[in-house]
Amino acid sequence: MESISSRIEKVSPSLTLSITNQAKAMKARGEEVYGLAGGEPEMDTPEFIKEACIKAIQEGKTKYTPAAGIPELREAIAEKLKDENGIDYDPRQISVNSGAKHSCMNAIMAIIEEGDEVIIPAPYWVSYPEMVRLVGGEPVIVETKEENGWKITPEEFEANMTGRTKMIILNTPGNPTGAVYTEEELRAIGEVALMEDIIILSDEIYEKLIYGEAKHVSIASLSKELYDLTITIGGFSKAYSMTGWRVGYTAAPKEIAEAIANLQGHTTSNACTFSQYGALAALKEESTFIEDLRAEYDVRRQFMYARLAAIPNVSVVEPEGAFYFLVNCEQLGMTSVNLCDKLLNRYRVAAVPGIAFGNDNCIRLSYCTTLDVLNEGLTRFEEFCKSH
Ligand code: PLP
Repeated sequence: MESISSRIEKVSPSLTLSITNQAKAMKARGEEVYGLAGGEPEMDTPEFIKEACIKAIQEGKTKYTPAAGIPELREAIAEKLKDENGIDYDPRQISVNSGAKHSCMNAIMAIIEEGDEVIIPAPYWVSYPEMVRLVGGEPVIVETKEENGWKITPEEFEANMTGRTKMIILNTPGNPTGAVYTEEELRAIGEVALMEDIIILSDEIYEKLIYGEAKHVSIASLSKELYDLTITIGGFSKAYSMTGWRVGYTAAPKEIAEAIANLQGHTTSNACTFSQYGALAALKEESTFIEDLRAEYDVRRQFMYARLAAIPNVSVVEPEGAFYFLVNCEQLGMTSVNLCDKLLNRYRVAAVPGIAFGNDNCIRLSYCTTLDVLNEGLTRFEEFCKSH
């Protein structure tokens, strides 16, 4: 349509949402669906967080807050980043945003100019390339290898750098791969970024969902030089099962933090006021919620890994974080959309086509569902793979 801006016309709709919606519509019609496409924990938000939010509403905390968030929450985030991630930010360097997706968009908008290149390792989270295009930047997609655990190597990073490279996006633990970068890997990537002062957008939204021997490392904690180049992104959606609350944050060097707060002041203003009080409770109050969630997800992860590894014609790398498996289905000889379409319509299993993440040979399965659903979904997936 002529009246739609070219900026928006360049953007493709989110494929992850479209499959989830199709599966939801089938469920609403009473059809049986084994949902392995989800991107959010299935449990409810903890009661103590809801109570803090309700209390805030009852106390009349229902008006605008400062654009960058309530001071108590910015302080609590700064404290958390210091204690848990080893990064020293002044609360004024924190911006509270309407979800980590919004945080990523703010960071990209604050940094990227028309024609700037942004290195995005693939498979990537669906929204990164579209966000870059929205602001007139050029996503430079770097395909990572399954044998490298779907992680970009410093050599691959350097080979794709040009005089126009302004940013690299790192996502650890990663969606859709579950890959977790080690400290050594981050140091090596950091060295390449430092050669040309490439800004690092470090999306750490899944930091709490980490399993086995893996450790979460924040690249900004590794040196003063890397701190000066990094925008750290975190949030509440995944760890506290708060996807609908829409609270995330950026932590960045002072100038970038001010630019983000300024931008937000003219676009969305503050993140939802009472959601911020819920997020504050999430950080401040003692709870075993995250540890319980992590333990439960680790059981599912191990169960699913054993099942997937035994299915012929597909391969998987054992994920160390988040709640996804990226399954390589190249040998089945179909496009990922075709595969997911058949899987949903004939076998009633919802999965996400890898093309959404820049890899058409793969599909993403998540374990944000009960073991029973996982079990039946995987049995059906196995039947599907054996019959193709
Ligand atoms: N970053 C990654 C890698 C994600 O997978 C998601 C959500 O799926 C987000 C950011 C967005 O999180 P939020 O719901 O807080 O906006």
